[in-house]
Amino acid sequence: YGEGSQKIDYVFKIVLIGDSAVGKSQILSRFARNEFSLDSKATIGVEFQTRTLVIQHKSVKAQIWDTAGQERYRAVTSAYYRGAVGAMLVYDITKRQTFDHIPRWLEELRSHADKNIVIILIGNKTDLEDQRAVPTDDAKEFAQQEGLFFLETSALEATNVEDAFMTVLTEIFNIVN
Ligand code: GDP
Ligand code: MG
Repeated sequence: YGEGSQKIDYVFKIVLIGDSAVGKSQILSRFARNEFSLDSKATIGVEFQTRTLVIQHKSVKAQIWDTAGQERYRAVTSAYYRGAVGAMLVYDITKRQTFDHIPRWLEELRSHADKNIVIILIGNKTDLEDQRAVPTDDAKEFAQQEGLFFLETSALEATNVEDAFMTVLTEIFNIVN
């Protein structure tokens, strides 16, 4: 039983990964508490946040894990990935390098996580369109090749954040049902 003694049918662990400062913590904050902070401190301590929602009349608790500043290559431990059924692979559309690092994050994810994990690629900060450095089509093509879902988001403007989580959660839900 979770919040308010509500019956919980499923708990799905989702992990957030990607380079530092791409907006992982703000995406989580937007989804879990509908909050955003422009001067967010680097993540410290907090392991995960939860939000319970209803999918096809079942209550699903999303338990979303955020890296505690472990974004250096290979610094994320296998405990972080353990039991995860979904992953959000985040880059910043204004920083080409954060997109160029996606293949190594994917490699790390695939070597640590369950092989059936549901993965979505997320290009964050679409509110900074004038500074865009990663064309949407490049990311779309990469996602297609790798069999990943793909969406562009803005945690600041709350664009597509809900959709991104719902895409992953619904896919996981359909796999287990
Ligand atoms: P993390 O290191 O990946 O967890 O990144 P943070 O969530 O801490 O965000 C890094 C910086 O980018 C912070 O200053 C955030 O306020 C900012 N940020 C996060 N998401 C967005 C967004 O969608 N748009 C804009 N303009 N800034 C964002
Ligand atoms: Mg963070």
